[in-house]
Amino acid sequence: MGVSQAAADDLVDGFGRTIRYLRISVTDRCDLRCRYCMAEKMTFLPRDRLLALEEIAIIAERFMALGVRKIRLSGGEPLVRRDVIELTQRLGSHVGGALDELTMTTNGTRLAEHAEALVAAGMRRINVSMDSRDPDRFRFITRHGDVEQVLGGIAAAKHAGLSIKINMVALKGLNEDEIAPMLHWCVAEGHDLTLIETMPLGAIDEDRTDRFVPLTAVFEQLSAHFNLKRDLAGTGGPARYWRVGDSGTRLGLISPLTANFCDGCNRVRLTTEGRLYSCLGHDDQVDLKAALRQGGVPALDAAIRLGIAGKPARHDFRIGVGEAPAVARHMSVTGG
Ligand code: SAM
Ligand code: SF4
Repeated sequence: MGVSQAAADDLVDGFGRTIRYLRISVTDRCDLRCRYCMAEKMTFLPRDRLLALEEIAIIAERFMALGVRKIRLSGGEPLVRRDVIELTQRLGSHVGGALDELTMTTNGTRLAEHAEALVAAGMRRINVSMDSRDPDRFRFITRHGDVEQVLGGIAAAKHAGLSIKINMVALKGLNEDEIAPMLHWCVAEGHDLTLIETMPLGAIDEDRTDRFVPLTAVFEQLSAHFNLKRDLAGTGGPARYWRVGDSGTRLGLISPLTANFCDGCNRVRLTTEGRLYSCLGHDDQVDLKAALRQGGVPALDAAIRLGIAGKPARHDFRIGVGEAPAVARHMSVTGG
């Protein structure tokens, strides 16, 4: 199905940033409980509050009509949503037309089962989050995950033809010493690696300050072992990239606490419940589900424009002892 392009009036926010990238949280549920992301006993939204597949597709297609060229499905864990492959097929039908890229961030536990279907739907690249390759550490960080399952999923995704970027949150005392080995492994396997600083999003059972690792220090250490050349071919995203020697691997750093990336931000986020958040670090939101249900596509378009117009200049993350999370929402609600 084609998307009729609105008059060439891109979505531009109040600071002149053109929005090209939509992240969609298709579910707030997850089969893991990573310590920095969720509390052990999380309460999830009742299913009747979630957007239906058809509503997600309509909203995504209106974003495409208004100029968005890239969509990432995330969550929670996107592959635990029952109709996610159907959604991927619907959105994937626009790749090469209204959409340059459809991608996903997943924890990899169900990738072995779904990798072929994702490729068949038009997906070419995925991000897989894996903070440790050590079985005991992985189980500790995720509270019960099995890293072999994730490694199997990554192998299946590679075999199916997907390019893979590993996401690794740097955690003091838990995986700092695994960062260099993880980069070696990514080079050997032909994957990219993105390192992420913990962000103060949503209440968890511990104090994130205890686990925070500034990536500036990590980068200095990596530079001593690897030949890192800055890669300025930007994605308009928060990550800064380096080429690792002559390998095809790119190292990305997402360091919201030590290096602000908001000036070039081209993305907005749709929650499971249909709310549009124009910034991960602010509470301002517009209810697209209500607009669509009450006023159809014209009201939806107006609500999208309203949300974009109000996109804040920058997040205001701080991490410090006793500091409350910057926003109460967990990353799993807004879609990491
Ligand atoms: N479940 C999927 C996964 O883990 O890849 C997708 C959702 S998850 C919220 C997306 C990404 O956000 C993951 O790479 C995860 O490590 C990261 N993340 C979650 N909470 C975070 C936090 N508080 N600070 C930094 N990164 C976080
Ligand atoms: Fe689940 Fe991803 Fe959050 Fe881990 S980071 S608890 S896998 S949503």
